[in-house]
Amino acid sequence: MKILVTNDDGIFAQGLWVLAKELKRVAQVVVVAPDREQSAIGTAVTLRQPLRAQKMRPMVAGVETYSVEGTPADSVILALDKLVKDKIDLVVSGINHGANLGDDVLISGTVGAALQGYLHGLPAIAISVVFGDNLHLDNAARLAALLAKKIGANTLPTNTFLNVNLPNLPLAEIRGAKVTRLASESHTDTVEESHDGRRRYYWLIRQGINKDTDKKTDIWAIEQGNISITLLYTSLLNKPSPPIPNNLCPDLLRELRE
Ligand code: MN
Repeated sequence: MKILVTNDDGIFAQGLWVLAKELKRVAQVVVVAPDREQSAIGTAVTLRQPLRAQKMRPMVAGVETYSVEGTPADSVILALDKLVKDKIDLVVSGINHGANLGDDVLISGTVGAALQGYLHGLPAIAISVVFGDNLHLDNAARLAALLAKKIGANTLPTNTFLNVNLPNLPLAEIRGAKVTRLASESHTDTVEESHDGRRRYYWLIRQGINKDTDKKTDIWAIEQGNISITLLYTSLLNKPSPPIPNNLCPDLLRELRE
């Protein structure tokens, strides 16, 4: 199995390399990621200027690595269509430093990168941890490896397109894992206005996660300290869900704790 690992936080982000290192235990890994942070760039692709890619020294030994002067989606397109000679079996995007929940998946570069994998007919996973001090990236990396193994073993559908979020908690404090749908709300909902002495300016502020009372949504699951797994082909693209094993969540949690 060969896994393409990418992100939107840029080639030097810690989450990318924690993920690559863990996935390398279960598969061959190639990293192709933007050369700088591109959070909230969504599904954007670069059409009006040339794209450059540079082979790089990996931060995890033995991982073929390229940085791309472009968006997360550009990185996946270049990787799949040009840079990587071998067949890719799975695209994993993350680990994003910060949650990607609800309507915000539409502006998420993490999800935008995974989407390109899905559109190329590959299983794809976007994975994020709620932002905070001392990010628990290790739980997310191990969960991604478990999901990759299940995809490799055909116990998940081949057209899997998942958005996975983890609360920023030690493993023992994670309450459970839920298959969720996207909440209908965004937390980029505030415009702050100020003045620098010459001109007015604005900041779009991310307010953090809103309260959600609907027990089926990703935001609710995260608020309650659960891992949230959203089937994006259903929740985002309105396509019927392929069968997901009933025991996926209990199995993942048990295996994560093993
Ligand atoms: Mn990001």
